Amino acid sequence: MEERKGRRIIMFPVPFPGHFNPMIQLAGIFHHRGFSVTILHTSYNFPDPSRYPHFTFRTISHTNEGEDPLSRPETSGMDLVSLIRVLKQTYVESFRETLAAEVSGGDTVCCLVSDAIWGRNTEDAAKEVGVRRLVLRTGGAASFRAFAAFPLLRDKGYFSTLDSRLDGPVIELPPLKVKDLPVVETNDPDELYRIITDMVEGVKSSSGVIWNTFEDLERDQLMDCSSNFHVPFFPIGPFHKHSNDSPPKTKNKEDNEITNWLDKQQPKSVVYASFGSLADVEEKEFLEIACGLRNSEHPFLWVVRPGLVRGTEWLESLPCGFMENIGHKGRIVKWVNQLDVLAHPAVGLFWTHCGWNSTVESICEGVPMICTPCFTDQRVNARYIADVWRVGKVLERSMMDKGEIEQVVRSAMIDEGDGMRDRCLAFKEMADNCLAKNGSSSNYLDKLVRHILSFDS
Ligand code: UDP
Repeated sequence: MEERKGRRIIMFPVPFPGHFNPMIQLAGIFHHRGFSVTILHTSYNFPDPSRYPHFTFRTISHTNEGEDPLSRPETSGMDLVSLIRVLKQTYVESFRETLAAEVSGGDTVCCLVSDAIWGRNTEDAAKEVGVRRLVLRTGGAASFRAFAAFPLLRDKGYFSTLDSRLDGPVIELPPLKVKDLPVVETNDPDELYRIITDMVEGVKSSSGVIWNTFEDLERDQLMDCSSNFHVPFFPIGPFHKHSNDSPPKTKNKEDNEITNWLDKQQPKSVVYASFGSLADVEEKEFLEIACGLRNSEHPFLWVVRPGLVRGTEWLESLPCGFMENIGHKGRIVKWVNQLDVLAHPAVGLFWTHCGWNSTVESICEGVPMICTPCFTDQRVNARYIADVWRVGKVLERSMMDKGEIEQVVRSAMIDEGDGMRDRCLAFKEMADNCLAKNGSSSNYLDKLVRHILSFDS
């Protein structure tokens, strides 16, 4: 497009929904501000470009001979650390080549925006072709502070803490407890440490960090991070609430069925339960969740991704007749448009694993949460949701039996006069305000655009 000439941004997302969604939302924000966007995407999880007609997509192929190592079925059994390690090994080299071809072959590139998880290699690749690199951090500032403290925490022995001290405080990172530290169960803790430190170092060497958060939510955490990182910060979130040029979403049959079902429910009566795109649960936990939701006697909409329940295809471990007995009171689906669901007036509670996108999306709609974090930053997010912003209650995974679930859902739905729902609405208003004229996120976006246009490439 002629009017976007010389205003081209290249983006490199990590190919999981929790990373791709905010990157594509950011692409929409840039497009709205007059940039053209090229997305370099791994062949793994390659999206359908027809859903994003404003952007140009290029495939980054894997470097292995033969099949993509991530397409093998046993990949689904990999832990998150192995998955990220394989992803980086498989694609970073071809990313370098694809970036070089893009930069030499087309319109002037203003900058690269890469996901922080890709680490320092993307900085080297950008330097080689003379392009400045910004980083998108898809998590919050509070959890980044904990990631940045990994070397210190390791030296102090926090990662080898005995079970008996898990409820103790991390004195360097209040209000976190030892059990909130953003770790992942893995056979290879050294690799986890390398991934995290590479991410943090990659942020330090970047030309700026774009955050899907906003000042009124994480002012102190952003200030704390920025005093240790001498690169400009742009907290311009919540991304999905910015004006952008995305075409209206077409709803499929399942989306329409869900909306019709929600339309029939009382305002704020429905429990929406989803544990994101990566977490999984044991069959035993799955059955406790099913019975707990049923026994709470609130209508529920529950996302059970194929793969959520370890060792099963989908719902086959539910007791015979379970869904028939629930009738119209509950729905189990494979995937929903979560933004639409959370914005629906019938939804009164979100039982979440506290992925950062889910956290921000719930806060923006003023929906209180039940927090059952599984790994990485989710535990930090849960602590902030429950103890700092006080817009949710924690239901620990280890406590997740049907009786406890029933009790927590009921008490969160009743709102026992502790003001949780009012605080949720106050945060929703803050999220709206930061995007209004002269709101903090709008101002940071103006600064970000000026920053990018100041790069002379
Ligand atoms: N999501 C969705 N439908 C679902 C479940 C999740 O659209 O049924 C979206 C959700 O809106 C969010 C992303 O997938 O944008 C999940 O990201 P999050 O950071 O919450 O968790 P992750 O999947 O990375 O653990």
